[in-house]
Amino acid sequence: MAVFKSDIVEDLYEIGEVLGSGHFGQVKKVRERATGTSWAGKFLKIRRKGGSLLGMDRTSVEREVEILQALKHPNIVMLKDVFESRSEMVLVLELISGGELFDFIAEKDNLLETEAIQFMKQILEGLRFMHSNSIAHFDLKPENIMLSEKVSPQLNVKLIDFGLAYRFHQGEEYKSTSGTPQYVGKCVIKLSIGVITYILLSGMSPFQGDTDEETLRNVVAVHYEFEDHYFKTTSSMAKDFIQKLLVKDSRERMTAEECLLHPWIKPITRKQVANRNRSSINMRNFKRFNAKRKWKMSYNMVSVCNRLVNMRLVCKHRSDTDLLQVSPSRCLPFEQLFDR
Ligand code: ATP
Repeated sequence: MAVFKSDIVEDLYEIGEVLGSGHFGQVKKVRERATGTSWAGKFLKIRRKGGSLLGMDRTSVEREVEILQALKHPNIVMLKDVFESRSEMVLVLELISGGELFDFIAEKDNLLETEAIQFMKQILEGLRFMHSNSIAHFDLKPENIMLSEKVSPQLNVKLIDFGLAYRFHQGEEYKSTSGTPQYVGKCVIKLSIGVITYILLSGMSPFQGDTDEETLRNVVAVHYEFEDHYFKTTSSMAKDFIQKLLVKDSRERMTAEECLLHPWIKPITRKQVANRNRSSINMRNFKRFNAKRKWKMSYNMVSVCNRLVNMRLVCKHRSDTDLLQVSPSRCLPFEQLFDR
């Protein structure tokens, strides 16, 4: 059971600038008064009434904390302390200053596959460690893959945001929030690694269709292709790696452990080494993908702000501060906010 300190966080830490925002709060830079060390404080609003839609459920934060406490690994963000007040919980985390990995890559003029592999390897090391502790991340996406620092001899990848992570018990299946059992977990994570690798190498999304329905159909059928135009500079080993992750039968997908042993990650022969060294990622297209991704993120944020402005006009009985706890992408359909 996680121990939450009841001290006032401001007494021990000086609160600084906002580093990022999540669904139920903000992450701010904090400075420990006793040592002068900088950390990242994740401030989460807690739901006060059972029926309320605003703020986070206390047990979800407890789960995130319990999971972070179990995960001490160089490629996973480290949790230092946890504080609790009546309406808020604060997670004091290791400060990650290098920004998102995808943004770092997008700033480069070119990137060899061997360099991309160094990043993939670290992501896989983090995932392997999680899985060996029966934990699945469930929210592996570019926004949650960061770099500890931008300039360092060895760039260190850090996986963040364990808000949706789940601990599996032997023989148990994951239950979604709707209560429907779903055979997801590690299988979905494996699919995410395949998708992330595909995007990293080509700047394309593997299942993208012309409409949302088509995209969904492609995901369900695990239907994708390696279009020559986008994969001109990709090695055959990289394609093989992706093909062993993006397979319909989830039991056939490589585990993180198997990924780390695949010749694309761990070449054995000279030919395999040479094959990787000659290949590079499609930087022009990757930059385009990343710019579009950033644009979509800010578009979502703007549309949420617009919704909130509208809500203030319609929903005067709620306080402004309450409204601001409503999260962007986990935002319920607009109509549902008025149901209760
Ligand atoms: P979401 O609701 O999207 O799941 P969240 O509320 O769980 O998000 P995080 O994803 O953990 O919050 O953090 C939000 C943002 O804050 C991140 O995208 C990142 O930019 C920044 N951030 C999170 N943790 C750290 C950290 N340890 N160091 C630096 N920045 C961080």
